[in-house]
Amino acid sequence: MYLTQKNHIRCNKKTYKILRILTRLSKNLYNFTLYTVKQYYFNNGKYLPYEQAYHLVKHNENYQLLPSQVAQQTMKIVDRNMGSFFHVLNERKKGNYNRHKEKAKLQSIYDKQGIKMGKKMAWLLRKRKNVINNFMNQAVNYIVKYCLSKRIGNIIIGELKEIKNGMNMGKINNQNFQYIPYGLFKQKLKSKCEYYGINYIEVDEAYTSQTCSVCGDINRNNRKHRGLYVCKKCGNVMNADVNGALNILKKVAGESVVRRILGSGLVNRPVRIRVVISTTKLLTKPRP
Ligand SMILES: [Zn+2]
Repeated sequence: MYLTQKNHIRCNKKTYKILRILTRLSKNLYNFTLYTVKQYYFNNGKYLPYEQAYHLVKHNENYQLLPSQVAQQTMKIVDRNMGSFFHVLNERKKGNYNRHKEKAKLQSIYDKQGIKMGKKMAWLLRKRKNVINNFMNQAVNYIVKYCLSKRIGNIIIGELKEIKNGMNMGKINNQNFQYIPYGLFKQKLKSKCEYYGINYIEVDEAYTSQTCSVCGDINRNNRKHRGLYVCKKCGNVMNADVNGALNILKKVAGESVVRRILGSGLVNRPVRIRVVISTTKLLTKPRP
């Protein structure tokens, strides 16, 4: 599990004191610069470049107390971070912020130039990775938190092959879905479960979507739509995902447990969870 990284610097008390003061000043300057850029954006709707921000920030006491080289570098970090934010914002406003289009366009340029990878493509891929990583962290967090609050001790997960192959939700959604690294998701979920002492069990989910969880009949055509499972043999009508989940559970916990769940009437339609990532968060997050 990846937590934060700490670097220990061995130094005497005097150096330590100086470093503490310097890092605090730098942090203050970062936040002050961020605040200035933010306010400028709120008031004028425009990006405040480094050269202009400099004149507004240079009288700040934090700026004056730091060596000018260090202060300027700190301000440039804000500039860099905000720069990428405004870049995306502008592209969105123009309506041409479409990763797939942008990627395809870049690729055709690279092909003409006879190169495989360029700086801009690397940047795009890095961004994409960050978005996915962030989404996965939030999703895993949601699941684990839910389990902790309801005192759930076991998570049983299918191999998630089917989701990738069987889904057909229109061109755009397929574009967005096919590249989701489920391996990464499972890895994250597993390590977080280990951290909190929740049992993480992976199960081969072959035929789980075709099998009836009530009578055990396997029939391809029973799955009518994505969403509803109708068994022709015993007449069982159930949400398809719940049916699949019960079959997966059966493989681990055995027939009797599933019988009990079916008998209890607790098999309701699942609630779809949406995890939303907001880019505006970037604007309101100062450094600690
Ligand atoms: Zn059946």
